[in-house]
Amino acid sequence: MLLLSNFIGGKFASLKEETYIDSYNPSTGKVYARIPNSTEYEINLAVEAAQKAFQTWSKTSRSTRAQIMYKIADILESKLNEFAIAESIDQGKTLEFAKNVDIPRSIYNFRYFAGHILHTEEKSTVMDNIALNYIQRSPLGVAGLISPWNLPLYLLTWKIAPCIAAGCTCVAKPSEFTSVTAYMLCDVFKQAGLPEGVVNIIFGTGSKAGQALVSHPKVPLISFTGGTVTGKKINETCAPLFKKVSLELGGKNANIIFEDCDFEKTVDTSIRAAFSNQGEICLCGSRIFVQKSIYPKFLDAFISQARQLVVGDPKDPKTKVGALISKQHMEKVLKYIELAKEYGGIIECGGIRKKLDGEFSDGYFVEPTVITNIKSSCRVAQEEIFGPVKEAINLANDNQYGLSCSIWSENGRRARRVAESIQVGYVWVNCWMVRDLRVPFGGVKKSGIGREGGEYSMNFFTEQKTILINL
Ligand code: NAD
Repeated sequence: MLLLSNFIGGKFASLKEETYIDSYNPSTGKVYARIPNSTEYEINLAVEAAQKAFQTWSKTSRSTRAQIMYKIADILESKLNEFAIAESIDQGKTLEFAKNVDIPRSIYNFRYFAGHILHTEEKSTVMDNIALNYIQRSPLGVAGLISPWNLPLYLLTWKIAPCIAAGCTCVAKPSEFTSVTAYMLCDVFKQAGLPEGVVNIIFGTGSKAGQALVSHPKVPLISFTGGTVTGKKINETCAPLFKKVSLELGGKNANIIFEDCDFEKTVDTSIRAAFSNQGEICLCGSRIFVQKSIYPKFLDAFISQARQLVVGDPKDPKTKVGALISKQHMEKVLKYIELAKEYGGIIECGGIRKKLDGEFSDGYFVEPTVITNIKSSCRVAQEEIFGPVKEAINLANDNQYGLSCSIWSENGRRARRVAESIQVGYVWVNCWMVRDLRVPFGGVKKSGIGREGGEYSMNFFTEQKTILINL
């Protein structure tokens, strides 16, 4: 059994009160790790360590910061398999997905932001012959970084990398459901020579450790990725304290398909968009709108591919859909399927828990599910299910969320017109989840506040001061 400890001031630290949380392997339903149930006490120690480290790190040159970050990336890359195996066991995702998406992207997060700080220039402006303006950017201080369980290391490093690149230090809290790769990352930091206290990682629940971090007076900025309900709570805590907040929240993304699409590519990618990572990606295309003329053909092809997706042992290369994160989450997903039936939804395929044999008999598997005949106003079409459950309906913007959207059409003018009228932060035309880390990423409506990526992350972690010098 793995026993995790917090990482404070460059050292693995014991808890004041030795209480732990069980962490389950979702594919077996068995406990396999124990996570520190940290409290305000541990958060305070971590913030102190981060404050101390900030004195030096904020003044460390860009080239040194970048050098250390490149080293972190290199070490992580040398351990790619080890990390991918751990992520797959901890989260339930397929090993293939962890190997090809989670860990490579975590490595790239460090490389990208190391490169970013080396290659961006600061602008200055001259105002006629009167004045010279320039912007001084200063790292803001100790950041609180809170991440979810669906893409554990990928999303944690998406926050840690820009934070330390900008010269901030941090206290990071991964999800209590998936803490193992964050724990392993602490060793990578040590090996790479990251100075003590620059990154501190505290494990525990959102209500104890998370809340203590968010409300800590010496933590002026909070970067959060997770559910909309939690995001609202965090915003309520931060607003009266005037903290800078970035909220990357839920999504219920539309996948809009026109009759002139590249049919095969559209079906293949729509399947990936719907069921990758068991449908547990905030960007999943979970509402599918198909032009009437190709609807029957699309539905047939889509259902036939969904039925062929192998659900099972995450380690098996044939497996395309692993286990859902927890028993509670699986029950929530199954409840939505029941709700869909009550509203007259037709379950075209799946719709049930997948029971496997042997060591996986208690795993949290759900069959890829396609639901049709759902009204846009129905809760199934409005709320985030975050599981392998998709429905084909007619309206895209009629939703409380606004994270991303995919549009499928070979008519560029049509695609652009639709893209510009969709209320989201990110639109893909003829693709899904292709990411350029330089561009703004984030949502509108209940999908969040703020943008991450390249310069946008740098703006978050720094304060800009304008200095005007009279000429
Ligand atoms: P969650 O909101 O339950 O938890 C996220 C993190 O917040 C965890 O680390 C949790 O411990 C912590 N937390 C919970 N309550 C807290 C509190 N009061 N104060 C401080 N921290 C607290 O979300 P989840 O279930 O782990 O993740 C799934 C959600 O994340 C989905 O809604 C998904 O769409 C969203 N998500 C969004 C993005 C994005 O980029 N927009 C990316 C991935 C996931």
